Amino acid sequence: MSSPSRKLKFKAETKKVLDIVINSLYSHPDIFLREHISNSSDALDKLRFEMLTTPELDADRELRIDIVPNEEEGTLTVRDNGIGMTEDEMARELGTIARSGTRSFLDDLTGPDGEKTPEFIGQFGVGFYSTFMVADKVEVVSRKTGSGESGYRWTSTGHDTFTLMEEEDIPDGTSVKLHLKKDMDEYLKSYELRELVRKYSDFISYPVFIKSEDDTDWEKEPVNSQKPIWTRHEDDVSDEEYNEFYRHLSFDPQGPLSRLVFHAEGTTEFYSLLFIPAARSMEMLMPDYKTGVRLFIKKVMIEEEADELLPRYLRFIKGVVESSDLPLNISRETLQENRTVSIIKKALTGKVIGLFQDMLENDIGKYNKFFTNFGDMIKEGIYSDIQHREELADCLLVWTSRSGDEQKSLKELVEELPEDTDRLYYITGTDRKELASSPYLESVGKSDVEVLLFDSPVDEFMLQSLGEYRGKKLVSLLKEVDDDDLTDAEKAEKKNAEETFAGLLEYIKDSLGDRVEDVRFSPRLKESPCILVSDKNDPGDMLRQMMRSMNQEVPEAKKILELNPVHPIIETLQDLYEKDRSGDRLKDYVQILFDLGTVMAGSRPENPADFGRRITDLLK
Ligand code: ADP
Repeated sequence: MSSPSRKLKFKAETKKVLDIVINSLYSHPDIFLREHISNSSDALDKLRFEMLTTPELDADRELRIDIVPNEEEGTLTVRDNGIGMTEDEMARELGTIARSGTRSFLDDLTGPDGEKTPEFIGQFGVGFYSTFMVADKVEVVSRKTGSGESGYRWTSTGHDTFTLMEEEDIPDGTSVKLHLKKDMDEYLKSYELRELVRKYSDFISYPVFIKSEDDTDWEKEPVNSQKPIWTRHEDDVSDEEYNEFYRHLSFDPQGPLSRLVFHAEGTTEFYSLLFIPAARSMEMLMPDYKTGVRLFIKKVMIEEEADELLPRYLRFIKGVVESSDLPLNISRETLQENRTVSIIKKALTGKVIGLFQDMLENDIGKYNKFFTNFGDMIKEGIYSDIQHREELADCLLVWTSRSGDEQKSLKELVEELPEDTDRLYYITGTDRKELASSPYLESVGKSDVEVLLFDSPVDEFMLQSLGEYRGKKLVSLLKEVDDDDLTDAEKAEKKNAEETFAGLLEYIKDSLGDRVEDVRFSPRLKESPCILVSDKNDPGDMLRQMMRSMNQEVPEAKKILELNPVHPIIETLQDLYEKDRSGDRLKDYVQILFDLGTVMAGSRPENPADFGRRITDLLK
């Protein structure tokens, strides 16, 4: 009994992707084969996993992938006896691009001329649709293994619709038959196919067999070596092979930026092969981005996205970990509490940070690229991973008042500081160029001291948890000076000023009233007469903005006016205070001082017209 076929429409975004695939002159049509083999391999992984809990499935079957060219028909079939698909799954998985957010990303990618760049295709997980680069019709026949239900045939020419039809007497697993376009008959030659499998899919851990093109002979031996690439010695694997494997794991059409091959021996043994992507991929920006690496236990893939094996801030790392020390029946929940898992996690985190440090020391060009893409996640690590805080801080690149257009390594910068330097000054903001000319730099003497400039929203979080770096206290120039931070000489200078100018200080406080939280002398100021700073517990402007955006009430904090005790202006004010403290001039001068502080802090004076008038009077 066979039910009539159903005709279904592709979802709108799928249609869009199909159009791009079909119409773009994709420069590597070869990749369609590796996409299918990759899908088959995943389907076999899933079946092998199912077999753990459903032993009936394991009827001595040899898990394999077959490639069958048929010259007469002009078709190429890729077949596997993996998990297979139900009718629903076929309609869903092959009829839509499931990733939410794909649509909006496609819209974003549309250039001014309405064109979309084909290079992005690989980033949407449209692997299956690469089929239509080489075929003008595709038939997928599949039966869910062990379901006891009949199979289905999915057919499409890659245009608006596909059909689904029930099909009896078909084996478990999936076979994809491509009706090749006229100029694509090179994909019917078994030697050509053999080359492609060796080139792109050698590491696939299931045997891939190829039939001769006249559909008679099977090759006796599988084409691929099947040795898991992560268990092989790094010297025996070429860059190209590693890169292909990386593409199999990620949707990233570019090769990785760097890799880590690590085999741990001893009480806990495991293999790992990890990659740092070259850039943040589209995938990574999607709301449902899956983090984590593939976890294999005794050759079985237990989890595709095991995020228990690396800390969250390393979520951009792709790769595989295989351990034989973990029980096969481990579940997501028990993974988290497993001791071996935490040992692996600890070892891998250390190794990965070591890889960053290595790159920083030996290939700064590459490291710059890395940091531009993933620097924010290193910063996230600094505030979330107390254990590795210092090592992660060693990986920081920073802008400074002298860095120009290239970031500097914080570690190097600190190593070059004079021995007795015990503070690192910094300012935070949103625009690096603005920060580089900020008046706050003056307060420590721009020419003497290199000040760190932080312009990313995660920086404030990071700085607050870091506190100090390599024994040097991180001090914000936007905040009040903490008495504990002053040297003995500076403390004495401050005390002296407070005594000498006690009356003046009171006068200024009275005169500014509740416009300021306090007025103080600050020996830190070297060139400017005064500066407006925040209370040391102030969360900072960026955090304040963020809290506001989450609808939290955050009052605007009153500022503290710090005065430079040795600036000539203070002498002038003192002079006026002694001779004419009830006159208007002293009052005006104090107001000018306050407005000056406001302007230097990058804000408008309270009353610009008054400010203008006072300055004009002064000039007269
Ligand atoms: P991806 O592999 O990135 O998820 P694809 O477009 O390559 O995207 O495939 C879409 C989905 O179709 C797969 O996720 C899988 O669910 C299903 N699929 C494709 N090929 C097979 C196959 N050989 N066996 C079982 N399912 C498959």
